[in-house]
Amino acid sequence: MATQLVYMEDFDVLTCTATVVMVGKTDDGRVDVQLDRTCFYPRGGGQDWDEGTIAKTDKTVVLTVSEVRLDEYGAVHHVGSHEVGELLVGDVTLCTVNADRRSINTRLHSAGHVIDMAIDQLGLDWVPGKGGHYPYMSFVEYATEVEPSAADDWRGKIEATANQIIRAGSSNVIRFMPIEDMHTVCRHVPDNIPKNKPARVVMYGEYFGIPCGGTHVRDVHDIGHVTVTKLKSKQGVTKVSYAVVGIN
Ligand SMILES: [Zn+2]
Repeated sequence: MATQLVYMEDFDVLTCTATVVMVGKTDDGRVDVQLDRTCFYPRGGGQDWDEGTIAKTDKTVVLTVSEVRLDEYGAVHHVGSHEVGELLVGDVTLCTVNADRRSINTRLHSAGHVIDMAIDQLGLDWVPGKGGHYPYMSFVEYATEVEPSAADDWRGKIEATANQIIRAGSSNVIRFMPIEDMHTVCRHVPDNIPKNKPARVVMYGEYFGIPCGGTHVRDVHDIGHVTVTKLKSKQGVTKVSYAVVGIN
């Protein structure tokens, strides 16, 4: 059964009540809980999963959540271990997401969008591909080839433009729309948009919309300072690696 994804409509919700609909075990013996709704972000789109707790509202049961995954049917699996008692189907619970970890993942993910916005503002028609927004590895890839002699120049320009965009500030709106309509507001619509969650576009200020299911800072100003650490081309793919000062 698909889980209602509370974070899709509001990035700031870090607690919610939910009812347990399934309790199982993972192959490696950890507890796997499904709820009717969740504010936990499951790993996806290059953004890491949330951690936190799911506690029965009378506090007689506490599950520590250490991994969150979305399956092909749209069900979110909260994987972890019981600290107190055991959750049962029908239990009414309070979900609490670790706010610091979420904030780090949100800022890193949003910084990836700002790199995109910077590339667009520089007039580069680089088609975005994969991205990873993890504290140990943050990057965005583009289907383009940059001459090695020009790489450092572009690296510096992208970094400077990204930080200008951050300093200028810009808030976002989210729009749910069918994938086939996304081209009306997005410059690039990837072929591999996941079908197991609501299709959504995130729009910052006057920039193009971005099809994305991740969580985002309310204003790009909240990201902090970005450094573009590396820009490297290989076989038609240019990887732009970045970091956010104070995080990675
Ligand atoms: Zn996003």
